[in-house]
Amino acid sequence: MIVAMQEKATEEQIDLVIDAMVDVGVNVHRTTGASQTILAGVGPTAGVDLSKFEVFPGVLYVHRISAPYKLAGRAFRPEGTVVEFPNGVMVGGGQVQVMAGPCSIETRESLVETARRVKAAGGNFLRGGAFKPRSSPYAFQGLGIPGLELMRDVAEAHGLLTVSEVMEIAQIEPMMPYVDCFQVGARNMQNFNLLRELGQVRKPVLLKRGIAATIEELLLSSEYIMSGGNYDVILCERGIRTYETSTRNTMDISAIPVLKKLSHLPVVADPSHGTGRRDMVAPMAKASVAAGADAILVEVHPNADKAASDAAQTLYLEQFEKLMSELKVIATAVCRTM
Ligand code: PEP
Ligand code: MN
Repeated sequence: MIVAMQEKATEEQIDLVIDAMVDVGVNVHRTTGASQTILAGVGPTAGVDLSKFEVFPGVLYVHRISAPYKLAGRAFRPEGTVVEFPNGVMVGGGQVQVMAGPCSIETRESLVETARRVKAAGGNFLRGGAFKPRSSPYAFQGLGIPGLELMRDVAEAHGLLTVSEVMEIAQIEPMMPYVDCFQVGARNMQNFNLLRELGQVRKPVLLKRGIAATIEELLLSSEYIMSGGNYDVILCERGIRTYETSTRNTMDISAIPVLKKLSHLPVVADPSHGTGRRDMVAPMAKASVAAGADAILVEVHPNADKAASDAAQTLYLEQFEKLMSELKVIATAVCRTM
């Protein structure tokens, strides 16, 4: 259930409503938006007569949420969530953000060159995997914590934030000093224990859509994180597996407006994994911004063909720079900045 308070509702009135919600047996999650407080009651409310909440002083409206996700639903924050990072960078605001970097963190030299060019082109995030979920156990598995140390060092020197994938609960604590945003990869979208643990963390989580996950399943996974009290979740469309074989995955552009409609969470698009092909990354990135994506996640490398993982979908830095200038035009056309 959702109880939206009036703009002028007092703390006392809000507390009374919260007490009454707790009395009917729901967990209350509170969010204060630009103009009003919204209280989401999570738990079984089928037998509860919600109309009694309508007459509480300070209440604007009450409704039952029929969708299985409660906190991720648009009604919890009708104005949309803006995830704010420590340096003031925001995902979900008027500015389209760009997160770029290699699939895997490799050498200092290549990371420094990448960071310098990403920053100069207008990116605010350096991405790079240190714990890699590879299909083959014989493929490069990532540098682990030393890789993250390297990424933190390079990112800081260039004024960039860091995003990196966490694959298991035991990695959360050791990763904390090095990442500004935890990435949950497609293969772990339904690692529910990991999601629950990330709900206890107070750092943003970029949650990728599973390779065969529906939008509802993605939103339910975000609910695992949010129900722990971590509301800073960024959803990511990164392509799904279909019968089509001309691209590595099928980039579901329509997922972007669907997610924006169903949920208040910011949406990032990953055309690199979404297509698996360097020549398809730019058109899908542009389509994603046009479709309303709040950020773009893209794999770049100074020597893209030689990247230790995902080389075929990795952009050369020159290609990335060209893409950035094109994206700025698209962003302006859809009333966003970049
Ligand atoms: C990645 O970002 O490099 C990655 C492994 O992504 P995904 O989980 O979408 O495959
Ligand atoms: Mn990759």
